[in-house]
Formats: sequence, C-alpha cells, structure tokens
Amino acid sequence: MMTGTRRRSITLLSAVALFGLACVLSSLLLRQQAAAELAKAGQTLHRLISQRADQHDAHLTSLSALVQAADPAPIATVEQVAASITRFYPRIVGIDVVDLATTPPASLLDVTDPAIVAAEAAQASGATVRTRAIDDGTKLLLVKRALTDGVGHYAIALVIDIARLAASDVALPEGARAELGLAEHAQAGKKAAFSADIASRTQPLRLSLATTVPRWPTPPPAFLIVAALLTALGALLVDRLLEARARASEAARKAALAAQDARLAHAGRVNAMGELASGIAHELTQPLTAILSHAQAGQRLVQRPGVEPATLAPALDAIARNAKRAGEILGRLRAWISKSEPDLEIVDLAELAREVAHLLTTGALPAGSSLKVENDGSRPLVRADRVQLEQVVFNLGRNGLDAVAEAKGERIVTIAVATEAGQAVLSVADSGPGLPPDAQARLFEPFFTTKPGGLGLGLALCNRLIERFGGTLDGGNAAAGGAVFSCRLPLAAEAIRREAAE
Ligand code: ADP
Repeated sequence: MMTGTRRRSITLLSAVALFGLACVLSSLLLRQQAAAELAKAGQTLHRLISQRADQHDAHLTSLSALVQAADPAPIATVEQVAASITRFYPRIVGIDVVDLATTPPASLLDVTDPAIVAAEAAQASGATVRTRAIDDGTKLLLVKRALTDGVGHYAIALVIDIARLAASDVALPEGARAELGLAEHAQAGKKAAFSADIASRTQPLRLSLATTVPRWPTPPPAFLIVAALLTALGALLVDRLLEARARASEAARKAALAAQDARLAHAGRVNAMGELASGIAHELTQPLTAILSHAQAGQRLVQRPGVEPATLAPALDAIARNAKRAGEILGRLRAWISKSEPDLEIVDLAELAREVAHLLTTGALPAGSSLKVENDGSRPLVRADRVQLEQVVFNLGRNGLDAVAEAKGERIVTIAVATEAGQAVLSVADSGPGLPPDAQARLFEPFFTTKPGGLGLGLALCNRLIERFGGTLDGGNAAAGGAVFSCRLPLAAEAIRREAAE
C-alpha cells in the first residue's frame, strides 16, 4: 500500500516534470514559429532583391544602348538619364561612363574610379556584367562594356548602395537582421537562420538573415503562470483521485477481511455445534453400550432352557438404570444449555464414587487394568447435583482408564475420597504416562485433546460443573508417575451455611 507522503511526493515530482515538459514544448514551438516567420520574410525579401537586380540589368542595357547611339557618345543625354534614374532609384547612388580608349581611361561623369571600372571592363565581354564590392563592402559596382562598331570604347558603371538594396517595407521578424553581399565573400561555416542566392545571372549576391532569437526561447510569462497553475491544479486533482482510490481499496480490503471473519465465525459456530452434538453422543455412548450388553446378556439367558425369570432381573435392572441415566444426562444437558439451576441435593461422595466405579467397570475395562475406590474412613457430604457430579467422576475415571491403556507396567486407576482441611476431596489417580507437557496449561480448554478420536470437552465440562458446586478441579502429574485429578468441594454443612450467608 502506498503511503500518503510517498504518493504526494510522486505527484509533486510528476507535476514538476510535466511543467518542465510544457516549457520545453512551448520553447520548441516558439523556435519553430520564429524559424517559419524568418523563412517567410527571407523569401519575400529575396524576391524583392531579385527583381531589383533585374532592374539593374535593365538600366545597364538601356544606358549602354544610349551610349552606342552616337559616336562620340551623347554624354549630356546620358547624364540626364542617369540623373533621373538615381532620382527614382535611391539605392543607385551613382552612374558613370568610362572612356576606355584614352590612356589612362577617363571617367566622363566623374563618379567612379575609372581605373577600377576599366579593370573590370577588361574582364567583361560585351554581354556580361561584372560585379564587385567597393567602399569596404558597403557598395556594389556593376560594370558593363558598351560596344561601338564592335569595339568596346566605353564602359557603363552603376554604384549600388547595398543597405538600400536590401531595405524593404516588409517588416522583418523581431531580432532578425538582413545581410546582403557577394556570394563569394559569404563567410563559409557561418550558419545563418535563412540564406539564399539572389536569382540573377549577372549579380552573384547572397541574402542571409540572422536572428537574435535564442536557441531555446523563454516562453512568455503569461504562459508560464498559466502552465504552473494548470499543473498545480492537475496535481491536486490527481492527488485527490489517488487518495480516493487508496481509500476505496482500503475499504474493499477491510470489507473482504470482515467477510472472511464472518465466514470464519460461522464456520466456528458450525464446528462448535458439531462438537457439542458429538459431545452429547459421547456422553450417551456409555449408558447405551451398557443397555446393549445387558439386553444381549438377557437374550442369551432367555434362550437357555428352564431359565428362571428371576435370573433376568439384574440385567433388566441394569438396563432400566442405564436408560434412566441416559435420560438424566440428556435432561441435565438440556438444563445446562438452557442455564437453568442445577438440582442440588446432599450427596455422599464416598457412595457416589463407588457407584461410578461400578458404572465404569460394567463396560469392558482395558486389558489388564483395574479400578479401585479408597476411603480414609470419613463420609464427606457435599451439596451438588448428583447426576452432574457422577458425570465428573465418570469422566475423570474414564480418562484414567484411557491413560493406563497405554501404560507399560501396572494399569490401575484409583478413586480416593477423603476429608482434608474442612473440604471434601475426591481424587482420581492413574498409573498411566501422565499429562503431556503442553497439556497442563490447557487441560480445561474446550476442544483441547491429544487423543486421535478425542473431543476435548470432558475436562472443560468437569471444571465447569465443579465450579458450579463451589469447588475447584486441579490436574497434574503425581510424583510417583501418572496423572492425578482432584476435586475439592465444600462440605455440605459449610456449603449450606455459605448459601444462607449469601
Ligand atoms: P478427551 O478425553 O476427549 O481428549 P478431555 O478434556 O477429557 O478430552 O482431556 C483433554 C486432554 O487432557 C486429553 O486429550 C489428554 O491429553 C489429557 N488428559 C486428560 N486426562 C489425562 C490422564 N489421566 N492422563 C494423561 N493425560 C490426560
């Protein structure tokens, strides 16, 4: 079962992990969004610059056509056209015509360094435009050679401001910066967020967009607050849910335990009923066996020829006595179960001991065993229910006989009646093996037995009955060997006096 603290810390850790994940995802999303915006702006700018480059080509072509229109070139007209071009296209900061026929070459509009223009023109054939960076890379110089009569006398030069060429009304995403330059000058290895070559055959330019957006952009504070609140709320809900589930499973476990308890208790009751029924059967076995054996003896007698009816009398007496005893046992058991008061009378303990000994010896005794009754000469009278007291002595005697059945040497059970210290004492001693070690403490526990077919009810019942008569029952091992059980009962006079006092 998960403890509350453990569950809480797991939920808290999961919430923190979830919050972290939300931040990482949001950062990734922001990065993707920034990259997409940058790419879009880059493409727009790329398209615009490509168009502008085409315009440069167009201007160079028209100026070269104008230069070729007459010989010598109509410089005043060219100058006028150049002035209107630079007015309309502020990125074109200068237009020049260089006479290549003179030495050194001469700048006719005095805008560029004629030596540089001539050097570029020397490498350009009629149709090709040469492009180079000037003024520390802030400007581009485009040079086209104009052919007059097939001979290149003049070169047309355009000076373009790179910053203006790359300028646009289209707003770049926040933190983005456009860089435009000759492709061959672009720094190798420097990875721009967006980079593309301008689609111009004559001007090998490359546009790059750099951005200051960090690799892992921080999500906006509002997002962080909402995410933190949501994860906290989620964690709280999950915690409550887990707690409710834990409680439900605990309740189910308790219910299952309770059901099991109830089942066990029921089984216990059923068992106890069974034991009680067996106990009753156990008590009745002896008188019924006696009745059976006397009836069989009677049958045998009757079958003999010339038998006197009087000879049947002892057998019939024994049958009647045992049947009465069985009836009484049942009656007393019923009375005991219904907790009605015992039928108290003055009982002569010595006489009762003899009667029980007679009952015990009527059945078959274990082979080689004997039972004797001893009396110190006193005749202790006790106040008890006769049948119940008989039952006690009978049980103790039978236990003694059971015990001697296992004895190796002498097999004798002695029932002794005496008066000691103003008490009536009846003890049953045997020459058996004695009480097993673990039995001493549990003798009077119901259902405690060490016998294979035992019920463990005999001694519990004896103890209860003796206590009812105000006495005590003790069991132990005798010094000479074997077990000895002693019932101590108040003498009748004393019992009556005590009852009167109560
Ligand atoms: P049960 O005779 O059905 O076993 P009891 O309550 O009469 O039930 O006896 C309980 C147990 O006490 C016996 O199983 C036995 O171990 C022990 N016991 C009783 N009497 C004697 C005896 N005389 N000698 C040895 N053990 C005895």
